Amino acid sequence: MVNTLRELIIIGSGPAGYTAAIYAARAALKPLLFSGLTIGGQLMFTTEIENFPGFTNGILGPQLMLAMREQAQRFGADIVDEVVEKIEFGKQPFEVVVQNKTYQSRSILIATGAESLTLGLPREKELYGRGISTCAVCDAAFYRERIVYVIGGGDSAIEDTMALTKFTSNVNLLVRRGELRASKIMQDRVLSNDKIKIHWNTEVVSLLGDGKLEGLELKNNQNGKKEQVKADGLFYAIGHRPNTDLFKNKININDNGYILTSLNGLEKGGNISQIWQNQYPSMTSISGVFAAGDCVDYRYRQAITSSGMGAMAAIDIEKWLSANE
Ligand code: NDP
Repeated sequence: MVNTLRELIIIGSGPAGYTAAIYAARAALKPLLFSGLTIGGQLMFTTEIENFPGFTNGILGPQLMLAMREQAQRFGADIVDEVVEKIEFGKQPFEVVVQNKTYQSRSILIATGAESLTLGLPREKELYGRGISTCAVCDAAFYRERIVYVIGGGDSAIEDTMALTKFTSNVNLLVRRGELRASKIMQDRVLSNDKIKIHWNTEVVSLLGDGKLEGLELKNNQNGKKEQVKADGLFYAIGHRPNTDLFKNKININDNGYILTSLNGLEKGGNISQIWQNQYPSMTSISGVFAAGDCVDYRYRQAITSSGMGAMAAIDIEKWLSANE
């Protein structure tokens, strides 16, 4: 692949990055996409996806991501399975360093996603997708009349807990303190639902099961008492971490590390004017640098919304490039 000046470099290979690559390639922008370490993003760790429109009987996460990748390549996107090491937004064209090689591009799309936080317990990786999940909205339906546990005390944990009650009446919420962090309205929902049992001051200390999750060892952190319980599902809802370290102090990022665009609260400032924000909602605080997907979105975090944001960004980028020839 010849290292010429690019119209667009995309960083990240989740639904946002691949969808943007499909749109940009079809707009003849010949995008270059660096996939990063987790080729295909978070969906590579899931099994069945039943809520992505168009697949009557569901599709496996890795299969969906491979199809998106091949679709982008069919229209001429160049995909390189490498990690971006350095980025220079102070120059136009921008510079992206990968494996000590410098690539230049007139525009950049950041689609680096986010990671769900987990506890890092032994055997967690092995049981992921086999009883352990980080997305109740996606996986709740697999747990009809099963025994499920959710860890966390924030709004996400309450949402996950409520989603699970539609399928089973045996829902347990594990809260590490004696109170919830969630908003009052969400707290009321969970406290008044008799399908939900809250275990206060309780932590998971080990995961039990052979090939799939079968139980948990819990510990009450007030009296130190441990017990083993039967569990078919364990949902982590202890927060997310956007993959945005590379861009810190280069573009506007909020206190939790999410990249700001005018879709999520970027205000006039940086080197873009309000009118540009209105015209290019996916643009960051640097003109010509755009962002989409879970590195921006802390609310919806779905494959389909992420794909949608990728499409929006590609359309913004195409317009911005032609307005700034
Ligand atoms: P939060 O950071 O708000 O909550 C994380 C929760 O996980 C806290 O209760 C925290 O406990 C707990 N936790 C963290 N680490 C551990 C651990 N190691 N073991 C056990 N528990 C742990 O994250 P959320 O994802 O819930 O929410 C993120 C943002 O998104 C918030 O601003 C939220 O309001 C928003 N949101 C809004 C929704 C809505 O409006 N419908 C829905 C979902 C999210 P502790 O309290 O002790 O720190």
